Amino acid sequence: MAKIKTHYEECDILVVGGGMAGTGATFESRYWGRDMKIICAEKANIDRSGAVAQGLYAINCYMGMQWDENQPEDFVRYARNDLMGMVREDLAYDAARHVDSAVHMFEEWGLPLMRNEETGRYQREGKWQIMIHGESYKPIVAEAAKKSADKIYNRVMITHLLMDEAHENRIGGAVGFNMRTGDYHVFRAKAVICCAGGASHLFKPRSVGEGMGRTWYAPWSNGSAYALPIAVGAKMTQMENRIVLTRFKDGYGPVGAYFLHLKTYTQNANGENYEEKWYDNTKAIVGEYIDHVPRPTCLRNHAFIQETAAGGGPIHMVTMEAFQDPHLEVIGWENFLGMTVGQAVVWASQDIDPKYQNPELTTSEPYVMGSHATCSGAWVSGPEDLSPPEYFWGYNRMMTVEGLFGAGDAAGGTPHIFSSGSFTEGRICAKSAVQYINDGKAQGIKVTEEQIDNFKTEVFKPLENYQIGRNEITAGTVSPSYILPIQALQRLQKIMDDYVGGIGTNYMTNGNTLKKALKDLGILQEDLEHIGAEDYHQLMRAWEVKHRALVSQCVTEHTLFREETRWPGYYYRGDFLKLDDDNWHCLTVSRRDPKTGKFTLEKAPLYHLIDDDKDETEAS
Ligand SMILES: Cc1cc2nc3c(=O)[nH]c(=O)nc-3n(C[C@H](O)[C@H](O)[C@H](O)COP(=O)(O)OP(=O)(O)OC[C@H]3O[C@@H](n4cnc5c(N)ncnc54)[C@H](O)[C@@H]3O)c2cc1C
Repeated sequence: MAKIKTHYEECDILVVGGGMAGTGATFESRYWGRDMKIICAEKANIDRSGAVAQGLYAINCYMGMQWDENQPEDFVRYARNDLMGMVREDLAYDAARHVDSAVHMFEEWGLPLMRNEETGRYQREGKWQIMIHGESYKPIVAEAAKKSADKIYNRVMITHLLMDEAHENRIGGAVGFNMRTGDYHVFRAKAVICCAGGASHLFKPRSVGEGMGRTWYAPWSNGSAYALPIAVGAKMTQMENRIVLTRFKDGYGPVGAYFLHLKTYTQNANGENYEEKWYDNTKAIVGEYIDHVPRPTCLRNHAFIQETAAGGGPIHMVTMEAFQDPHLEVIGWENFLGMTVGQAVVWASQDIDPKYQNPELTTSEPYVMGSHATCSGAWVSGPEDLSPPEYFWGYNRMMTVEGLFGAGDAAGGTPHIFSSGSFTEGRICAKSAVQYINDGKAQGIKVTEEQIDNFKTEVFKPLENYQIGRNEITAGTVSPSYILPIQALQRLQKIMDDYVGGIGTNYMTNGNTLKKALKDLGILQEDLEHIGAEDYHQLMRAWEVKHRALVSQCVTEHTLFREETRWPGYYYRGDFLKLDDDNWHCLTVSRRDPKTGKFTLEKAPLYHLIDDDKDETEAS
């Protein structure tokens, strides 16, 4: 341990993760905190990190208030409807009222936004989406962050948050390591904005073996946005609300532009509109929610899953009609080239030309990410002017740990904010964090060398486990003394897939299997103390799986707590196979006691702050 170099950094604001939310937080911290020291620590390199690394073809959250296209109230109604009634309406409204200004800045910074030639407005893909030439989206927002920060630490993975030892439940910074040099990094900070992204690879993916990295959600998104706050006792919400995506098979290429802009549609192998076949079946589970317009995404998934289970697959996207139009054909391909090149490559390798053959669709394994189309994340305070008392405790987007803020995937209850909304939420956090510091709330923070040294031992233990344990190996990779990160990951994925509603059980779970999962996850946690890492890259893999395991425990606890099937198509509680508004029209909130590792769960009221007198008319 003595030979590992330690770097110390003292700052006002530490932004953990420089993805969409993190770049927004870094940029805005400088705006409000002119004289403050602002640091961003990023696991990869912020020029190409996070879910937007490869680029995007559409900004999925833009109101268009300047042209009265949508108002924040419309957005809340839309998100609430898609999530079967459940969003934090204060947070959703707050993100919506600020999001347009963030998009206007993107354009100012050089992001090419497509324009409708007739109206001069941004080219709409759907009611909420605008189309962009977005291959360089991430480098553009990264540049704004780089110009704003005192320093960006690339290749530093944050493993733990530091807690103030002078004042209970207050943040004191974070620690991590540089995965290229192996150095230990200590960041003492007055406020921490957690923007470390959601979680892929909790559940066994459809692509296994050599194709394992080919998932819909970025394989490098390991749920640190949740694991870091869970570990220090921050409350979490709606962690059961995982997302399953209907996407093009094998490449997971996006379908949004296809449905909305190309007006393609789905059918079963016999050329039938299968969705309507499952109307009565769905109504028996969710009642009148099936009649909502647009139909909630999970219910469309449900029809897909049922039809496939009943032998009606494969399900196809009907592209052959739209692709006869050369303009639409170009858009169909460009859509992938700007953000999911892999799908074009998969089609080429499988000899699929969507002009002459309707490509197959599939449903993905579940992911947990609170900025896309589901609600999972930290239980954060809302804005003062909107939030009822149960949703407000001082600073907008502050978690239940003082001085710890969350944006993007990290913040719970705000679905459908996507890239632009995550950047916006980062900005909102930054403004609050600066205020928190200026109000004198971060004075007298004490973080002792003992706390820092203890974490140092813990962070690098996998290297030591490996060095000592490898002497016992006579052949192969199986050691009696340690497990490797890939072995731990596959064990985690099997537990989640078998028991918590993965693809292997067609998304089915129940109280008994969830309890078994918790038992197995507990044993896995014990074994993770003996994880072995042969180099710094594997050390990162070790910490990724440790974070994933903690997130998985939280997801499982939440899924067990909510005794209903609220989102058929995302998962099913076989023992409570109906939506139950009488008992479960509420949010779920958990807290893990950092000392004992035990979770406690409670219901929180679900307030509808926006009336629902206006119907949505267009699908997204
Ligand atoms: C496949 C896919 C397609 C999408 N398509 C669209 C679209 O078309 N339009 C749209 O508007 N939105 C889209 N989104 C949504 C958008 O990408 C997300 O909403 C947004 O990126 C979330 O921002 P974030 O900052 O929370 O997470 P991210 O942008 O993923 O950033 C998280 C950052 O944290 C870093 N990090 C992780 N762990 C650590 C750690 N321990 N220490 C330090 N750093 C860490 C990561 O490297 C990353 O840079 C899509 C998302 C996905 C997954």
